[in-house]
Amino acid sequence: MPRQLTILLAAPRGFCAGVDRAIQIVEEALNKWGAPVYVRHEIVHNQHVVSRLERLGAVFVEELDDCPVDRPVVFSAHGVPKAVPAAAQAREMIYVDATCPLVSKVHVEAERHHREGREIILIGHAGHPEVIGTMGQTPDGAMHLIETVEDVAAFTPRNTPRNPENLAFVTQTTLSVDDTADIVAALQARFPAINAPHKEDICYATTNRQEAVKVMGQRSQLFLVIGAETSSNSKRLVEVALRAGADQSRLVASADHVDWSWFDGVETLGLTAGASAPEDLVQGLIAACRARFEITVEEITTAEENVVFKLPRVLA
Ligand code: SF4
Repeated sequence: MPRQLTILLAAPRGFCAGVDRAIQIVEEALNKWGAPVYVRHEIVHNQHVVSRLERLGAVFVEELDDCPVDRPVVFSAHGVPKAVPAAAQAREMIYVDATCPLVSKVHVEAERHHREGREIILIGHAGHPEVIGTMGQTPDGAMHLIETVEDVAAFTPRNTPRNPENLAFVTQTTLSVDDTADIVAALQARFPAINAPHKEDICYATTNRQEAVKVMGQRSQLFLVIGAETSSNSKRLVEVALRAGADQSRLVASADHVDWSWFDGVETLGLTAGASAPEDLVQGLIAACRARFEITVEEITTAEENVVFKLPRVLA
């Protein structure tokens, strides 16, 4: 008789509206212009998505210089520094920007602060393509990256002693809601007049996926997040599950990467997927569990999502 396993399945999970749109942009660009269509950086951080698009004729490269000038190029959902579309334009290339509209919103905020003479703090993770893209919306030196509460204490603004109102912050869209709240509280304690975003920069999809995991964490002896090592929002979900009380919390690319010894003594599994992970990977993991255990799946719904972003006009 197989062992019983209850699977708590998070809802919402997996693809968000920005990821859906970015994938559709590559598909529609292939329909419109034929293969190959070049894509600068992984369109979204998921190898399964990338491999499927490669089979359709997309070619993934890291830099614009790697794209021939006579083929269309798509910029990834994470956003790009202003210099990238400018270079594509200078080379008279066809390009489509798949930057998520919620990342573009942060770009617009950063530009506005810069135009209005504020020194800008970006809360985010060094080296992440979204951070590189956001910092590239303003000239070098206009934005400072802060990653932790400790960084807040160490930060020395250039103009604030003269004009403390001339400071603003923006954030990466895929951060931990709780960690960011601590960093923002430290910033506001040190600089009470700092300009904050009108509406939270952490996006609805990141927030909703973290909320679901918070509710499920304590009931889960093992928590699995389907997602890529490069996916910021997926890695945050692993941390949130641990903090919420899961005994173990792990990031896995798919069922093929599960070490089944993790399940020893586990009666309840928490399961979710990062915003760039396709649903068939979730169903694949459930099927792999069904092959080994007598499973019961309980979906834990903490929010309804109905956000849809339009395609750029050139492809609509
Ligand atoms: S995680 Fe949020 S910001 Fe990133 S693509 Fe999805 S909706 Fe856009």
